[in-house]
Amino acid sequence: MFGDAFDRSQSAAEVTIIGAGPVGLAIALELDRLGISSQVLEAGGLRRRRSVDSLFTAQLQTPATHGPLEAVSAKMYGGTSNLWAGACVAYDPIDFKERKFVSDGAWPVTYEDVSPFFEPASRFLDAGPAEFIAANVAHGSDDEFSCTNLARFAGERRSQVRHGGAAVRSAHIRVCLNTVVTEVFLSGDGVVTELAVASSDGSKLSRLPVRMLVVAAGGIETTRLALNMQRDRPELFGGEAGPLGRYYMSHLMGSIADVRFLKPQYVDLFDFQKDANGTYTRRRFQPSEAAQEKWGLSNTVLWPEGAIADARHQRALLSLVFLLSGANGLGRAILPEVVRRRYSENILGSTAAAHLRNLTPAASRASGLTQMRF
Ligand SMILES: Cc1cc2nc3c(=O)[nH]c(=O)nc-3n(C[C@H](O)[C@H](O)[C@H](O)COP(=O)(O)OP(=O)(O)OC[C@H]3O[C@@H](n4cnc5c(N)ncnc54)[C@H](O)[C@@H]3O)c2cc1C
Repeated sequence: MFGDAFDRSQSAAEVTIIGAGPVGLAIALELDRLGISSQVLEAGGLRRRRSVDSLFTAQLQTPATHGPLEAVSAKMYGGTSNLWAGACVAYDPIDFKERKFVSDGAWPVTYEDVSPFFEPASRFLDAGPAEFIAANVAHGSDDEFSCTNLARFAGERRSQVRHGGAAVRSAHIRVCLNTVVTEVFLSGDGVVTELAVASSDGSKLSRLPVRMLVVAAGGIETTRLALNMQRDRPELFGGEAGPLGRYYMSHLMGSIADVRFLKPQYVDLFDFQKDANGTYTRRRFQPSEAAQEKWGLSNTVLWPEGAIADARHQRALLSLVFLLSGANGLGRAILPEVVRRRYSENILGSTAAAHLRNLTPAASRASGLTQMRF
């Protein structure tokens, strides 16, 4: 049901969750399954509003490697799943290994701790069963690279659409929209006691007692709330010199190579495939653990960009999407902003003419690609 965090007559829920993105909704629904009541405090409403986004500004230190905040997070019911591309991937065992070339790379949890959750997470995200390894193909893998690692794509990407209704229908879940948490208060022995909350238009301010708190406010805002707590209590979260707020970065992405395949059918292997469950999947090249250790590489995957940006696909529809991505308004309507920017950066280069050629009838023939950009 919907609730009002400023209504003092409402009894406190057993668990308070900050954020109604995919993580907050997953936790609320799991608690519901266990018969535990929760209230979800969400800064945004059912639609995105600029006035709410503007409450969460930040100064970008490196704008060249990070999109503007409004392009990388959405403050609304369903959170950033309203923007995301829906690619679901599993952790690999090496992600949890301490590697001498990854500073502070040790995790307080192990691969074995998290792997049992791949299945429910994949189903929650509408990406089908947690099958993240594809069958090998002849010459596909060697000691240094494999091509069996799969990304699975969510059918319905938006958690608001897929799960928002179930959360609102539950008698155990109280969804409080337009409710911004500005501060978390702790008792002397470090237990969370209260939250400072404000309505997103600033007209109401209140303090909300909490019994148990889950902060699911997304990577940046969870850190911001924790840094606020550390400002008052410097010993928290590993201390001021600890890892909190450090090592954050956006995806590092780039095209690094044209890969020429010996046989054209290998190109199709790296295209989107629909599996038996109707989920789209895509193979990726991945350096083996041994190769990563040898080259001092953190876990990296490579996949073809060719689907849209490389005019050699000779497909009119893909070229049209690529060219439209350069038009701000229309491009924003059809592509996530970070993806649109990535394509439109190249649009005035030599490839635009090649894409225009793909729109002519003579070009609408099957692709003869044997080479893809990774
Ligand atoms: C363009 C784009 C493409 C992406 N593609 C992929 C992809 O293909 N695969 C992938 O795995 N990930 C992708 N991501 C990342 C993915 O969207 C996020 O990892 C995911 O949404 C995080 O979920 P979350 O619930 O932790 O946080 P969010 O989805 O950010 O939700 C947090 C919620 O908390 C609310 N909130 C924040 N602060 C407060 C506060 N103080 N008080 C009250 N409420 C608050 C916000 O309004 C928001 O609704 C992509 C992201 C973008 C922007």
